[in-house]
Amino acid sequence: MRVGSRHDSLEGVRLLVVEDELRLGAALKRGLTAEGMVVDLSTDGPGGLEAARHGGYDAMVLDVMLPGMSGYNVVRTLRTEANWVPVLMLSAKDGEYDQADGLDYGADDYLTKPFSFVVLLARLRALARRNLPARPAILTSGNISLDPATHEVAVAGTPAGLTPREYALLEYFLRHPGRVVSKIKLLDNVWDATEDTDPNAVEVYVGYLRRKVGREVLRTVRGAGYRLGP
Ligand code: CA
Repeated sequence: MRVGSRHDSLEGVRLLVVEDELRLGAALKRGLTAEGMVVDLSTDGPGGLEAARHGGYDAMVLDVMLPGMSGYNVVRTLRTEANWVPVLMLSAKDGEYDQADGLDYGADDYLTKPFSFVVLLARLRALARRNLPARPAILTSGNISLDPATHEVAVAGTPAGLTPREYALLEYFLRHPGRVVSKIKLLDNVWDATEDTDPNAVEVYVGYLRRKVGREVLRTVRGAGYRLGP
């Protein structure tokens, strides 16, 4: 955690990226994760809307042209549901008309592709500053606690000594409590999209994680995936 620059840091900011261009989505996830953000990626409109509804994100980067439902409709739907997550829209369109559209529908900011990563970071800082909590909340389940600001994980008050991958896996489960999470979903969100992975890798890491946090913490849901216990 960078000390003293809390408000200009993106450390611990939870971001949802909705982008169907896989290469761009993966690059954004990688780059923004490197800035300390906790990034989830959705690749279509309906999936992005669902994630935004339930994910408790600090901010959202939303492409306009998406399969299933446009970014305009995603943000409009969220606003009609009184979900005020700050939204930065991305689009290949660059007409003033389109920009006005996005803002009319309830987006907070707008960036035209292609854009510079540095500019994106600056815009995200500005968005996140608006309603960034002083410190991200500590995630807990049973006797497990995970601090997104310091990446410390404790089981019954004792440090769990997780590797970065185990940490990311546990954090994903803690942020989706009670949900059955498929191996594919875990590969999409915890593993880098450019890594060569297969679902067996998920089983292996869930096994590692169980040894450190307790076997009963992650339930196997036969044929569907895993769920954070009890
Ligand atoms: Ca698109």
